[in-house]
Amino acid sequence: MENFGRKWSNLESFLSTTGPFSNSQYEANSQNFMFMRDYIKILVIGAGGLGCELLKDLGMMGFKHIHVIDMDTVELSNLNRQFLFRKKDIGKPKAEVAANFVNNRIKGCCVIPHFCKIQDFESNFYRGFNLVVCGLDSVVARRWINGMLLSLVSYNNDGEIDVTSIIPMVDGGTEGFKGNARVILPGKTACIECNLDLFPQQINYPMCTIAETPRLPEHCIEYVRTLLWGNEKPFGDVCVDGDDTSHIQWIYEKASIRARQYGIHGVSFRLTQGVVKHIIPAVASTNAVIAAICATEVLKLITFCYDHINNYINFNDGQGVYTYTFEAEKKDDCSACSHKPIPLSVDINTNLQNMITLLKQHPRFQLLSPSITSWVEGKNKTLYISNIESLEQATRQNLSKTLLELGITYGSELQVTDITSPKVILITISV
Ligand SMILES: [Zn+2]
Repeated sequence: MENFGRKWSNLESFLSTTGPFSNSQYEANSQNFMFMRDYIKILVIGAGGLGCELLKDLGMMGFKHIHVIDMDTVELSNLNRQFLFRKKDIGKPKAEVAANFVNNRIKGCCVIPHFCKIQDFESNFYRGFNLVVCGLDSVVARRWINGMLLSLVSYNNDGEIDVTSIIPMVDGGTEGFKGNARVILPGKTACIECNLDLFPQQINYPMCTIAETPRLPEHCIEYVRTLLWGNEKPFGDVCVDGDDTSHIQWIYEKASIRARQYGIHGVSFRLTQGVVKHIIPAVASTNAVIAAICATEVLKLITFCYDHINNYINFNDGQGVYTYTFEAEKKDDCSACSHKPIPLSVDINTNLQNMITLLKQHPRFQLLSPSITSWVEGKNKTLYISNIESLEQATRQNLSKTLLELGITYGSELQVTDITSPKVILITISV
């Protein structure tokens, strides 16, 4: 048996007793700690502001088998709060540096780093974890992992969820002095897509200011992002991707030209990325609080010692400290977690391009670059493929055809895929 002295004796005794607020089903046992230490495998997504805190919290809590995924490298500007990184680490993968730090510091802890995107792994990888914790700054990545965990849920013949197939997800998010944490039991409780409207809306500058009287560097960047991008289509008919350096570079260069015309200073590559990705300066204390809440929820979900939050907590330390919990509701017609096709109200005399625009703008879908296949008369027919160049060219001609011309009628079923989810979204066309 491992001898870790008194390091986790408090947690061991905590799990060995019950209190007035314990989960009534909880069986206090001195073995519970050994169970969570030896048998539980946790995936942390993101090794940034929240991720560093999460890895430290979970490691110090006694969790031993932890994996971390992050696609970024350490930058100088991270060092004020992402405390697992030092100056010598600049340019190195965050996941690897963070894992090494925690493994060296916490004896017996085994963090395994993955320097890649979450999309690089298939379902079998994700199936291997007992729980996933996210400390992400990207809504697309959250939506994708949400879709992945939903795709792992299995149902029996009666349509009931097999609870052993549920991998809980704890999701933390921070923005300046505001933060939130939530617990998702995929298939059972509200998922990310059920409450897409909870994500903060971007700051919108008035269009007239952007177009006619720009005063701030942000106005110049927004002008290029909202107007020039669509008109000049520098990369074809794609949305701006804040993680694509060539997109940001193009916007930065055009915004710089506009800023010079109006005598505005301060447009930089970094600011451009900040405006496009809606980055708000990070606050270390908010990250620490949210990560601590997430780590506590992980402990509760794994050991069942106390009930987990139901299911969403908001936190704000901008003026004093304010926090409350509420239950985000699962939506029956959620495009990700409902088990049936989602009706989309659209005129079948509208063309495919307009329907795609609708799928991008519709609050329920908010897709980024959908590809569409129809299911007509027992046959799959590819209508449009957005993400593979040769197929995009081959299917582009369909964009100007009406749904009716493409064989779609009211009641037709469409299969839609998008980078926001590994799962196919089923849609029925309705009046
Ligand atoms: Zn949902």
